[in-house]
Amino acid sequence: MKYCVECGTRLEERPLEGEGIIPYCPKCNEFRFPIYSCAVSMEILNPDKNKVLLIKQYGRDFNILVAGYINKGESAENAVKREVMEEIGLDVSNIKFNKSKYFEPSNTLMVNFSCVADTEDLSHMTNEVDSAKWYPFKEAKKEIKQGSLAHEFLLNFLNCAK
Ligand SMILES: [Zn+2]
Repeated sequence: MKYCVECGTRLEERPLEGEGIIPYCPKCNEFRFPIYSCAVSMEILNPDKNKVLLIKQYGRDFNILVAGYINKGESAENAVKREVMEEIGLDVSNIKFNKSKYFEPSNTLMVNFSCVADTEDLSHMTNEVDSAKWYPFKEAKKEIKQGSLAHEFLLNFLNCAK
């Protein structure tokens, strides 16, 4: 962020007590904290908790985790519930935080959760998703796009879940 979001003036860097060096607009006389998006991604488990749901989306031929942006004013946990319902048509509970990581290409803080679906029934999946399939953990590790952030989150989750 180089310019003030309100007035377009070039930002300066100034120290703010307890926060470090923060961009500052000399015209507005306001600190301008960096702006970025927040999104959730989730390991959705089947009721027996021995499989994880991977999806294909946007016409791409590789497996990823279900993910979506957190709305302004919404909690991350609610975004997990809402996105899974919107995309897969599944009700989830037992939502647990795993790990978060800043993803530079989309200027997004990705927050990863696990959750448990009330059924394995995928017949209510919406057209936001091309395909979805339950994978046993071992298979999921191989089937998810290697080297992706989703891959990193999945490995972290499975290592912690042992
Ligand atoms: Zn300004």
